[in-house]
Amino acid sequence: MLIVLNNLKSHYEIEQLTRMFTKELTVVYGTREQQAENQDMLYVNRQGEDVFAELSLNGKVYAGTAKADEDEDKMMLDVCAVLYKMYTQAFDKKLAWGMLTGVRPVRLMRNLCKKYGDIEPVKDIFKNRYFVTDEKIKLCSDIYKLQKNITDSCQPNDYSLYISVPFCPTRCSYCSFVSVGSTNASKLMEQYVEKLCEEIKYTAQTAKEAKLNLKTIYIGGGTPTAVSAEQLRRIMQTVKDNFDLSAIKEYTVEAGRPDCTTKEKLQIIKELGADRVSINPQTFSDEVLKAIGRRHTHADFVECYETAKEMGFKSINTDLIAGLPLDTVEGFEKSLKGCIELGAENITVHTLTLKRASNIVTGNQNNSYADVEQMLAKNALLAENGYVPYYMYRQKATLQSLENVGFSQPCHESLYNIYIMEEIQTIISCGAGGVTKVVGPNGELKRIYNYKYPTEYVKDFDTILKRKDEVTEVCRQFGFLND
Ligand code: SF4
Repeated sequence: MLIVLNNLKSHYEIEQLTRMFTKELTVVYGTREQQAENQDMLYVNRQGEDVFAELSLNGKVYAGTAKADEDEDKMMLDVCAVLYKMYTQAFDKKLAWGMLTGVRPVRLMRNLCKKYGDIEPVKDIFKNRYFVTDEKIKLCSDIYKLQKNITDSCQPNDYSLYISVPFCPTRCSYCSFVSVGSTNASKLMEQYVEKLCEEIKYTAQTAKEAKLNLKTIYIGGGTPTAVSAEQLRRIMQTVKDNFDLSAIKEYTVEAGRPDCTTKEKLQIIKELGADRVSINPQTFSDEVLKAIGRRHTHADFVECYETAKEMGFKSINTDLIAGLPLDTVEGFEKSLKGCIELGAENITVHTLTLKRASNIVTGNQNNSYADVEQMLAKNALLAENGYVPYYMYRQKATLQSLENVGFSQPCHESLYNIYIMEEIQTIISCGAGGVTKVVGPNGELKRIYNYKYPTEYVKDFDTILKRKDEVTEVCRQFGFLND
């Protein structure tokens, strides 16, 4: 579809909204007359007091008008509301999140609650202005209420530490993360671990100078257990030697892949202070696991999970994905029930996202996806079994524009997941692909990027350390260093 914009400054909101209905689109600025006729086209033209929108699709024409406004953000909100109504008619579909395109609906709700001083008018805005369904408004407000004590108790000087290990045994077909296959990367992995340990030590020093207080640690990736047991021990020993673990509230290691998470590695994780691990089945079907390029079976997952359980970790998270190729609504329900029966303290239900760099998309794999909305409706089983939703985020290109939700047994909510998704606490990141986010006292956010790929990270490591120095500088700007 062609989008033609006239007398408008930006196309971002219109493009994001349109992508939830159709993926193939081109945006140009100009007048309608400059475009070829007989094609599917949205024309948005600001003229005088009004913004006119006209959609020609499959030989039918839909039209609407919004008020022009000096406040561009407000005007775009009104334009998108007009477009959303036109699209629901033209494409004959409504979206559960209505016209909301953002990644963080709970944060939006929190900010609006601050503005209006109460949640009721905010629910009304979600329903009547953004066209969100009652079911999603309830999900969002339940999470907002559960998080409130946690978000309110964050102090400006608090921070969490994220450590990235961007290696995996094989690449899952839906993945677009910057993770390197570990099978042929032993030299790179060794160089990486060495530099990572240096960065961890430097970060401890930086955080001390910036007068920050460590609250949680998260070692993620990739799959941190893709490195050898000895390398994992070195990374975690460096953390232990350089940070005061007695003062932190949570320490997680992603042990996501049962095909590289051995008993020895789980023991190291436990011994060196982590109290939470994530062991991810994704699905309980071996057929689906094979279709997505995971090298392990369901039985491997259960064995790995039971081993971790016996070791006495405080919380174990299990990730599931709704909408995987070959999966069915019944298959998804079986996976969900399986995680509940195992007694996992956290169950995170992702909705499949068709990321542009993933093998599913680049390989043009012609999959048919079961009704993912029906799959997510099975999440009701979690509430029936005492789980509560505690964090949520959305991604671009997710099937049916749905969401990812973390569910938890009471008192097992992962603080790190809340901090990172709500962007309410500083996160200092180490390793390739890491992004440090320093959060100021009024919610301002300053991002400092590490290199994306492990090869660049190892090669130009001096730059990584120099960028760490910026953390102290930003903390100074935010006033953390003033006594
Ligand atoms: S384990 Fe995770 S990071 Fe690794 S390839 Fe699979 S989805 Fe990507």
